Amino acid sequence: MTRLQNITVLGTGVLGSQIAFQTAFRGFEVVAWDIDEAALNAAELRFRALVARYIHDDVDGAAAGRAEEALNRIHYSADLAEAVKDADLVIEAVPEAMQIKLETYAALSEVAPAKTIFATNSSTLLPSKLMDATGRPDRFLALHFANEIWKFNIAEVMGTPKTDQAVYDTVVEFAGDIGMVPIEIKKEKAGYVLNSLLVPLLNAAADLLVDGIADPETVDKTWRIATGSPSGPFQIYDVIGLMTPYHIALANPNPRSQAFAKLLKEQYIDQGKLGVATGEGFYSYKKR
Ligand code: NAD
Repeated sequence: MTRLQNITVLGTGVLGSQIAFQTAFRGFEVVAWDIDEAALNAAELRFRALVARYIHDDVDGAAAGRAEEALNRIHYSADLAEAVKDADLVIEAVPEAMQIKLETYAALSEVAPAKTIFATNSSTLLPSKLMDATGRPDRFLALHFANEIWKFNIAEVMGTPKTDQAVYDTVVEFAGDIGMVPIEIKKEKAGYVLNSLLVPLLNAAADLLVDGIADPETVDKTWRIATGSPSGPFQIYDVIGLMTPYHIALANPNPRSQAFAKLLKEQYIDQGKLGVATGEGFYSYKKR
């Protein structure tokens, strides 16, 4: 099996910055690519903030200087050809828009060496919809992380019918090497494993609230006590942040979804209650 050494991450936003930093933290050389110098300057700030988060969250060795050292293994580039010239693996985390992804892969396929494996972190676009644009469907698959990857450390690995098994196995091994628990998915599935489980739970909780069956505390208490889970669905909504579920609900014409969007907007979002990040959502996280 090929050992991957040089990793390039495309896009240094919320997830791309975390993937690049975690990979460097685990000892790999990483090139962080983004569209321009302004985006790379923002990336540098994100990486510095991650050093503090790793230390705060007591990630193994972070406080002893390992988080700071990781910064030295991250190299910046706004030139795609330069960014991927030695890459064994490119992890793509550009915006979740089909057109942007297709254009990114078209450009990437022109400049990447033949050896390079491409992996998409897309949450909602099936890799088979992107594979033709890569020019190398056998060396392409999805590698999907969860936000705050140093804490919620799963990496879902999902190929297409064209992905080479040896490439798949190499990426599974890489996921383990960067401290993730690889989740091997045998067939393509929208939502992977995590969201295939989580989204129906969150939707069911929203229906219970919208239909006036039970309040968030009651729903969460039921789930926690009866399943032993540490969090109920409304606590999970608060961690995700209420803007994402609001946009998803708003885009769904189903009357219950519309009612949930209205409730989120009027009772929470309009009052600045966006979840854990703002100190209040369905619950208050403000220090007393
Ligand atoms: P983001 O908007 O925070 O970051 C996207 C980055 O891509 C930015 O730095 C932007 O400058 C860059 N970029 C590269 N090419 C671009 C172009 N042509 N036009 C505009 N920007 C360009 O997005 P994100 O939340 O990090 O999501 C990135 C990918 O990760 C998506 O596919 C998303 O589905 C996936 N993902 C996100 C999360 C999450 O919680 N945010 C979780 C898992 C997976």
